[in-house]
Amino acid sequence: MIHNKKYFGIILLLLTLAILIILPSIFGSDIAFSRPGGGSSYSGGRSGSGGGGGGDGIGLLIYFLFTVLPPQLSIPVIIAIFVVRFIIQKRRNNENEIISSAPAGYQRYEQNNDIEDKIDMLKKQDPNFSKVLFIDFANLIFIKYYSWFGKKDFKNISPYLLQNEQIKSKNIKIKQDIEEIVIGSTNISDINIYPKITGIAVDIDANFTVTIKGRSTRYAIVERWYFNRNKDVLSPEPDKLRKLACPNCGSTPNFTDAGDCAYCGNHIKNGEMQWYVKTHRVLSQKVFKTKGLAHYEKEQGTDLPTVFQPNLEEHIEAFAYSHGFNNNTWYNKLIDEVVSPYFFNIYEAWSNKNLQSVRNLLSDRLYESFLFWIDSYQREGLTNKLENIDISYVQLVNVDTDKFYDTLTFRVFASCLDYVEDERGKIKGGSVRKSRKFSEYWTFIRKEGVEKNSYDFSTCPNCGAPAEKIGQAGICEYCNSKISNGDYSWVLAIITQDEVYS
Ligand SMILES: [Zn+2]
Ligand SMILES: [Zn+2]
Repeated sequence: MIHNKKYFGIILLLLTLAILIILPSIFGSDIAFSRPGGGSSYSGGRSGSGGGGGGDGIGLLIYFLFTVLPPQLSIPVIIAIFVVRFIIQKRRNNENEIISSAPAGYQRYEQNNDIEDKIDMLKKQDPNFSKVLFIDFANLIFIKYYSWFGKKDFKNISPYLLQNEQIKSKNIKIKQDIEEIVIGSTNISDINIYPKITGIAVDIDANFTVTIKGRSTRYAIVERWYFNRNKDVLSPEPDKLRKLACPNCGSTPNFTDAGDCAYCGNHIKNGEMQWYVKTHRVLSQKVFKTKGLAHYEKEQGTDLPTVFQPNLEEHIEAFAYSHGFNNNTWYNKLIDEVVSPYFFNIYEAWSNKNLQSVRNLLSDRLYESFLFWIDSYQREGLTNKLENIDISYVQLVNVDTDKFYDTLTFRVFASCLDYVEDERGKIKGGSVRKSRKFSEYWTFIRKEGVEKNSYDFSTCPNCGAPAEKIGQAGICEYCNSKISNGDYSWVLAIITQDEVYS
């Protein structure tokens, strides 16, 4: 009898452990319950009750164990549950740590190999399609969506959303503010060209702060956004796309609750003139932590073979032809006069926490992302120092041209001293003696047709005013032109770590 009881206890213990391992989400998963959008924007499985969460599952289990087992069995089992729970949570916390090796790349993504082919097919239907502009547009929709969610202004993106998305914003019950949205990376994960509709799926890796009833939580999320459009629709000009202008009359977005343009009175039907968001879903979501800022991982991916665009030689030739170069080594000049100096200047600015000095070299997204990371270090009382920067070599890996923009990607092999120090100069991570070797893929954009014979990084590329006159928004105070879109010279748009570049 006693033996039977012991077996029963052991079996129950094993069962409990199995439940704990198979269903760890029962426990303390704040993330799954109080998420941005109050749960409504989360389409995977659970529909959150908003806040709290976790306690009921374990409470019930303990109650169950107490009622079915004698104390000499139930107490050890309950202790075991708590130990396992503690271990699981500890492991999960470690996974949640955001590891940063500055100044970029915190993202991992999958990309289908055939995306580039599909983009070529899309360009045949829509010669105005520009990958870089589309990604910018998707980012803008993402940012407006969350910063306006549940607010009056949300209607101003109504032509770009399917109605159910608008209803989500209207029906929100708990007031929330979503702020400090920083996009780490955006990648096209799929393109589908159907007889009547074209669809693009975009994976956005971002982090933002959600404030509900005065309590703020920062989340790191990856979401997949599905954009659709009727076939035979042409992409609008870059300016219209960037302003999210009325697709009918082109005026700045101002829409009634019914979704009619306040200027031209037109009701914009989804997909008739522009892309619209059909749906979006969360691929991963974690509470964002910056505690790991001084933590260094072993450098990965430096030895991986370079990922070259298929038929790169042909693209290099086509670029030379369309730009009137009489050789296929035109990119060597760019490596010497753009890639290398940008690299040195940007690394130095990062190390000195003086991004303003390179504002003219960075796209808006990259600048915002850098600013956020530097602030994160600062909040922890830390500085990431990069010294003795040396470039060993640079390879051109991708050439992409469309009607509006040239996009070039280079792989830069470099080394530097990379360490984190606190306010008193104490080293908290990295090394002041041993150089760290690494490689990164740097993607530059520039407006089609803007040629330059020489580059001066200290001035506005349009009017020649000192570069410090270029404000946070990337607009020159003197000539009032937006520099950070690459409309006047090359701008660094994306940095991808070698282990995730594909
Ligand atoms: Zn209009
Ligand atoms: Zn200017």
